[in-house]
Amino acid sequence: MMDKIRIIQKIKQRFKGSLLADEPLSGHTSYRIGGPADLFALPGDLDDVRLLLDICHAESLDWFVIGRGSNLLVSDTGFRGIVIDVSDAFNHISSRGTVVTAGAGVLLWDLLRYCTEFGLSGLEELSGVPGSLGGAVRLNAGAFGEEIFNTISRIKFLDPTGIVEKRERAEIRAGYRQTDLPRRIVVIEAELTLHDGNPTEMQAVQDNILKRRRERQPLSLPSAGSVFKRPEGDYAGRLIEEAGLKGLRIGDAMVSKKHANFIVNVHVASARDVLHLIREVQERVFERFGVRLEPEIHFVGFEETVP
Ligand SMILES: Cc1cc2nc3c(=O)[nH]c(=O)nc-3n(C[C@H](O)[C@H](O)[C@H](O)COP(=O)(O)OP(=O)(O)OC[C@H]3O[C@@H](n4cnc5c(N)ncnc54)[C@H](O)[C@@H]3O)c2cc1C
Repeated sequence: MMDKIRIIQKIKQRFKGSLLADEPLSGHTSYRIGGPADLFALPGDLDDVRLLLDICHAESLDWFVIGRGSNLLVSDTGFRGIVIDVSDAFNHISSRGTVVTAGAGVLLWDLLRYCTEFGLSGLEELSGVPGSLGGAVRLNAGAFGEEIFNTISRIKFLDPTGIVEKRERAEIRAGYRQTDLPRRIVVIEAELTLHDGNPTEMQAVQDNILKRRRERQPLSLPSAGSVFKRPEGDYAGRLIEEAGLKGLRIGDAMVSKKHANFIVNVHVASARDVLHLIREVQERVFERFGVRLEPEIHFVGFEETVP
């Protein structure tokens, strides 16, 4: 078990950011689910992040970077170690010509607003994807036929030993909701190469996409978006719906009646409820169609095996 007081003292000797002990992660996830993190750190800058990684290494503590928690299922017991939130440390946006450089902590929403204002087109299809640029890079977030890696020209990240590395787009393999970037990194910033656009037309595209999202997705209830990846040649939502699972409920977790690939938190669902429902859906879809659905959401802090 972590000796919190000693670790907090050690961090605070040089730390410029803020540090919270036993912070409930339910307040940091779109599911509104998740137990406490031993420590929740909001580093103030790059050196602060390095300090946290150093201490984690020296003290054999686990760490995890959280974006806006919009693609996460965090266990009811929370996370043993340090959760690092880079939204204060890396929140810059700048541009030169059609090249935009933005910090990993920037909200995709804010990035899109910036790009629209300056007539920098290429990200409109991602309108309505919640979360940070760092999370979008990690997951190669995409929607309506576009993916963030279609616009990325370079990324900068910290490796677990605190060394800053850069990768050009050509050096990264990016596929559907995944990349071959090392698993244990802290994304610092991304450079995106966009093209000239007309702000009014760009806004119209985004308004249309937001409307389609509102029509199709259960946006009034907490969720983490699509739970499962699209299986080859099909749609997870179609398979789940055809298997008759819309409305299936375990505790307060329910397969959305509006969009079968969303599992929503209808009131006070536990992570256990959601996890069990995910397994149930996987089993029933497999029995019916022989297709093994692979989760798109990331699992944090579970001791049991996750799907
Ligand atoms: C209503 C709704 C609709 C959604 N629609 C879409 C959609 O259309 N398309 C889509 O792709 N996704 C969608 N999502 C899922 C989610 O919004 C995206 O996956 C988003 O990119 C996650 O970003 P985040 O900042 O919230 O990441 P988090 O959920 O906080 O983290 C996700 C993963 O990224 C890692 N990570 C985050 N930041 C960093 C960083 N700086 N460095 C290293 N690793 C990091 C985390 O460790 C974790 O493994 C939706 C979610 C919701 C709730």
